Amino acid sequence: MYPDVALHIAGTWCSASSGETLPIINPATGELIGHVPVASRTDLDRALEAAERGFRQWRGVSAFDRSKVMRKAAQLLRERVDAIAQTMTLEQGKPMAESKTEVLSAADTIHWFAEEGRRAYGRVIPARADGVLQLVIKEPVGPVAAFTPWNFPINQAVRKVSAALCSGCSVILKGPEDTPASCAELVRAFVDAGLPGDALSLVFGHPPEISNYLIPHPVIRKISFTGSTPVGKQLASLAGLHMKRVTMELGGHAPAIVFKDADVGKAVQVLAASKYRNAGQVCVAPTRFLVHDSVFEQFVEEFVNRSRSVKVGNGLDPVTQMGPLVHARRIEAMDAFVADAKEQGATLRTGGTRLGNQGFFYEPTVLTDVPLTSRLMNEEPFGPIAAIQRFSDDDEAFTEANRLPYGLAAYGYTTSAATAAKLGASIESGMVSINHHGLALPETPFGGMKDSGYGSEGGSEAIEAYLNTKFVTQSSV
Ligand code: NAD
Repeated sequence: MYPDVALHIAGTWCSASSGETLPIINPATGELIGHVPVASRTDLDRALEAAERGFRQWRGVSAFDRSKVMRKAAQLLRERVDAIAQTMTLEQGKPMAESKTEVLSAADTIHWFAEEGRRAYGRVIPARADGVLQLVIKEPVGPVAAFTPWNFPINQAVRKVSAALCSGCSVILKGPEDTPASCAELVRAFVDAGLPGDALSLVFGHPPEISNYLIPHPVIRKISFTGSTPVGKQLASLAGLHMKRVTMELGGHAPAIVFKDADVGKAVQVLAASKYRNAGQVCVAPTRFLVHDSVFEQFVEEFVNRSRSVKVGNGLDPVTQMGPLVHARRIEAMDAFVADAKEQGATLRTGGTRLGNQGFFYEPTVLTDVPLTSRLMNEEPFGPIAAIQRFSDDDEAFTEANRLPYGLAAYGYTTSAATAAKLGASIESGMVSINHHGLALPETPFGGMKDSGYGSEGGSEAIEAYLNTKFVTQSSV
């Protein structure tokens, strides 16, 4: 049921030259389901040579023709959705419905970038002197090294790969070792659609070894990383030392503020669904719930009821609403967050323990009145834990929302236009979603500020990140 996983280098699918592999575990059962090849220095050198050749070839293809290849790749993903979704659920654990949505939204992303890449316009600047033509030209930045994580094996990769390819860049993608096969299916769709083999390589291996080699390498001109803030800081420092362009999509600790005039029923419904999607392993998941005193007990009661009703199980079972965490490390991380919060005086309203003794399942968990000194209120939980806090004065909520160095996503629920406007204006995060969950569309910016990173992975801003701006001034005399 689970496909063999290979590297894709210089247009061929291959095993690692060293023969080294890492195990792939099904997080719902704990069973070994396959092996992922570990790229050696020799493999990386071949990928770098391919990226150099692929860049020269692919940048020479017109934006119009690049778009055709990309639209074909999107179509192939749509045709293959059922098989790819099953592979994703086997290796990552999320319910089949979420896996299918991920594959189909990846196809939409490719399609949108295929179109938008045809609009990477330059401009003409009126000159001061007669006979002078001043041009601003957009050129692809060069070969890209992209590093993507396991929580959305396709969608974290597709944004980087699509923006790079539509701009005329070649890519070496370092995919997620925990969930490699569905990411490989994304690459396969591009290859089968007619992308030159050298334009997109896929490698897996020991992440620090690969990033330490690729980032400083002179062939690579742009780095894009999605993952935790500490790793992002290391990689951005290395890129800075070598003057490489960088996009960093890092961790978050999203505040969700529920004001006294909010539609509480709707807030609970939307926020609980966002909280437990992909078992909370989502960088934009709401994590710090700030609820006005006057609606606090109602919100907590309804949120706890919803949490208890979430059907946790194997993602292949159609009734499952929440699958396992991706690996055993995440169970230990959840236990540590809960133990520390309880020790510091938080109240556990539901959940708080591992479920069963097979696979990596964790109960949907709600804690209230969690001290600000606890780890849960300061570090990204990246799991199915909601910390619900009360506030009485709106300014208190804004202060708490902006307290942390994170600044990725934020949510607010209110029926007041003035409060909604204040939310949009004063929350320090790259994305603010008010009275609904409306993030992560291909056409809208996606990215953070502060320690959550910089650069955007959506909207026209995402393409700018893969383009150099060149100024050409030319006199006719
Ligand atoms: P981790 O920090 O070991 O790994 C996170 C990701 O970064 C993985 O994909 C890993 O392969 C990659 N990585 C780690 N070190 C690297 C290096 N030196 N060079 C290149 N890539 C490197 O953590 P984990 O236990 O796998 O995941 C848990 C944490 O990761 C969470 O707390 C969360 O903050 C973060 N994470 C964030 C996202 C996101 O969407 N922003 C996605 C997955 C994980």
